Amino acid sequence: MKYFSTRDRDRKYGFSLRQAAFMGLAPDGGLFIPEYIPKADLDTVEKLADISYADMAVYLAGLIFPDEVSHSELDAMIRKACDFPCPLRKMEDDIYTLELFHGPTFAFKDFGGRFMGGMLGLLNEDDGSDLTVLTATSGDTGSAVANGFYDVPGVKVVVLYPEGKVSPIQESQMTTLGKNIFPVRVRGSFDDCQALVKAIFNDKEFRAGHNVTSANSINLLRWVPQSFYYFYAWAQWKKEHSDIAPDIVVPSGNYGNITAGMLAQKMGLPVRRWIAASNANDVVPAFLRSGKYVPRASVRTPANAMDVGAPSNFERMMELYSHDFQELSAAVSGYSCDDGQIYQGIRDIYRCCGGYISDPHSAIGYNAAKAFGIRGFYLSTAHSAKFGEVIRKALAEELAADGRDIEMPERLRLAMEKPKSYVTIDNDIEMLKKLI
Ligand SMILES: *Cc1c(COP(=O)(O)O)cnc(C)c1O
Repeated sequence: MKYFSTRDRDRKYGFSLRQAAFMGLAPDGGLFIPEYIPKADLDTVEKLADISYADMAVYLAGLIFPDEVSHSELDAMIRKACDFPCPLRKMEDDIYTLELFHGPTFAFKDFGGRFMGGMLGLLNEDDGSDLTVLTATSGDTGSAVANGFYDVPGVKVVVLYPEGKVSPIQESQMTTLGKNIFPVRVRGSFDDCQALVKAIFNDKEFRAGHNVTSANSINLLRWVPQSFYYFYAWAQWKKEHSDIAPDIVVPSGNYGNITAGMLAQKMGLPVRRWIAASNANDVVPAFLRSGKYVPRASVRTPANAMDVGAPSNFERMMELYSHDFQELSAAVSGYSCDDGQIYQGIRDIYRCCGGYISDPHSAIGYNAAKAFGIRGFYLSTAHSAKFGEVIRKALAEELAADGRDIEMPERLRLAMEKPKSYVTIDNDIEMLKKLI
């Protein structure tokens, strides 16, 4: 199997998985996709999903990454990476939710982060030198990558984050691991952190002497494993709705998650309709209505992990639908809601579903599910405890009336109590180089 750039329409330049994974972005600026999309055998998927998520994931990963890692290595790695549950939970009659937040950092990014960490460890092994993974984060990505790469042999992770601009929970998640994880607090903004990472990658001389790569969200190794849980959800859904292909709602920002679902569909997953759900940053829903794609600067919302104005996976989505707007708009509907509706969604879920506390991103999924009257499921992308401020605002009355507070998972509370360790630097490339 080779991997090609979305911009290489004539399929001239094929890359190995190792090359694609270490580059992240293709040299022409496109995103990597596999040379062909393999078909999954649904009976096999169903059978394996019944045994465990990991058994099913090993089968699916073997289809897309058949060559460069052995089956036994893939098997061992995935069993370690996918050691947490992924339940499909009934909310209302025909509305279910797939809870993707039971991993170590309580957001769905654990699925991609842990898989990528494990795979890079396997792909890196043979040349013996240490690999430095450099990543800038505004919060969630950094913690998922740090956890996913924790203790991976031969790999060091340098996470840059803006001082004072990530939540205390996020900072604890990144700075209490130790070992091969090196958190760096930058006196500056998230954009400064990103600029530092870019500057390192553009410094040919420095890179020649240092084996550095990035853990960007468009990396094939973070994208592909997100397609597996759609199969897992379908296998659970099918038990009660044997012949109905589900509608699937995906709260979206950079559109990595939903395009991974579309990859699953091309592999054979039965889906009736996709719904791309967004907050006020509704570039893609607007495109699905008008046929015009107009990226713009993002605005801040209570669902901040979805505050993206120029989704980087848009290219992959177009590629999966052969750049045909008719085909795409027949398969996908758009939905968007404003901040007030996000708060209202959190309250609606609390009332309708036995006091269930939803995070703001997942609540957008619920809103879309209701608006479209789906038969299927929406994805829950994060645990509510990560967004305490928004939840307390949305549910002030309800929580007071019921004498409740937000439940903080044990593991999250423990991370908050551990001592933090990091270094602080100025927004200065020379200081960063010295550190690396
Ligand atoms: C990253 C993230 C999203 C958006 O996912 P995309 O793949 O970028 O569309 C949604 N919700 C949460 C909680 C996230 O962390």
